[in-house]
Amino acid sequence: MSAAVPFLDLKAQYRAHREAIDAAMSRVVDSASFILSSEVEQFETAFAGYCGVRHVVGVGTGLDALRLILLEEGIGPGDEVIVPANTFIATALAVSAVGARPVLVDCRKEDSSIDPVQAEARVTPRTRALLPVHLYGLPAPMDELRRIAERGSILLVEDACQAHGARTLEGKRCGSLGTAAAFSFYPGKNLGAYGDGGAIATQDDELAARLRLRRNYGQSVKYHHAVAGENCRLDGLQAAILHAKLGFLDSWNEQRRRVAHRYCEALKDSPVTPPAADQVPRSVWHLFVVQVEDREGFQAHLRQRGVETGIHYPVPIHLQPAYAHLGYSRGDFPVAESLAQRIVSLPIYPEMTDVQIETVIDAVLSWSPAPISRR
Ligand SMILES: *Cc1c(COP(=O)(O)O)cnc(C)c1O
Repeated sequence: MSAAVPFLDLKAQYRAHREAIDAAMSRVVDSASFILSSEVEQFETAFAGYCGVRHVVGVGTGLDALRLILLEEGIGPGDEVIVPANTFIATALAVSAVGARPVLVDCRKEDSSIDPVQAEARVTPRTRALLPVHLYGLPAPMDELRRIAERGSILLVEDACQAHGARTLEGKRCGSLGTAAAFSFYPGKNLGAYGDGGAIATQDDELAARLRLRRNYGQSVKYHHAVAGENCRLDGLQAAILHAKLGFLDSWNEQRRRVAHRYCEALKDSPVTPPAADQVPRSVWHLFVVQVEDREGFQAHLRQRGVETGIHYPVPIHLQPAYAHLGYSRGDFPVAESLAQRIVSLPIYPEMTDVQIETVIDAVLSWSPAPISRR
């Protein structure tokens, strides 16, 4: 039995745009040109125009995008990169994959973004880059971070994997705010492929040229290898699908905003704490994350009413067994730790019907937390 309100409904999106997407897929299959075809180039050009940058380089995944930026910037063993403690593991993995050390920073209470004051305090002579995340679709505090980066002559790299189309107050798109930015096209992202995909956005001509070489075996001419590269190309079929979907991205983000607006209004005086209402116009709402005591009880209550929820993310980076060797302990990042215990993601996607939105709201409002205060 499918839930009344699934957490995500990719089938609804395909149904709504079947013709455009099928046409894109047939075009690629008919041409039998699958690898770095004109489809990839055309999508790269279109997405670069959309983001307001000179170059987009398509790669295999969001993790590849992050990793290749750091690698081509010469970051490696002995270097440090500043990363938020509350993010998807890929942000930190990109740093450790190139042999550098992820230096973690706690987030701010008000919007769960990396705290720029604490980030600055972690800068050392080994710091090579700041790697903020536009978490849940909300732009990170880039002006403050840019000042820190400029003062310390360090790079500012964006993890924009959750922020396709988000804009700053000045109207600049996420992806155009640092030295380079990483995007993921994992199917559930605001702009999602039908498989894995990723891209790097940058204004830097030389960096873009190096990335194009590296992702394709280091060759500019077939079988002539300038550098020892890798195979992490954006697939041609995925590029065609992404190009077909790109035209809908702004309206999809607007639909997500409509859901967020309704949630924020309805959940003001409820048993959960919604995001601050002033985030509604600023975020592209990849996720809508509320805070609640007794999360398990809350999720069970919603499940009973057919509403699926998620947790993004249940374990902060410093408490992941994978990063035990970094030497952090519980208590090091109190805000991230407290959020990890309390956060729940409600369903949010462009195709949500009014009935579904109200079903979620009714389910939340009908929940009463256990009266005994827990410790
Ligand atoms: C999805 C995501 C990634 C990684 O993207 P993949 O395409 O799955 O490799 C990196 N960072 C953040 C914040 C993400 O949400």
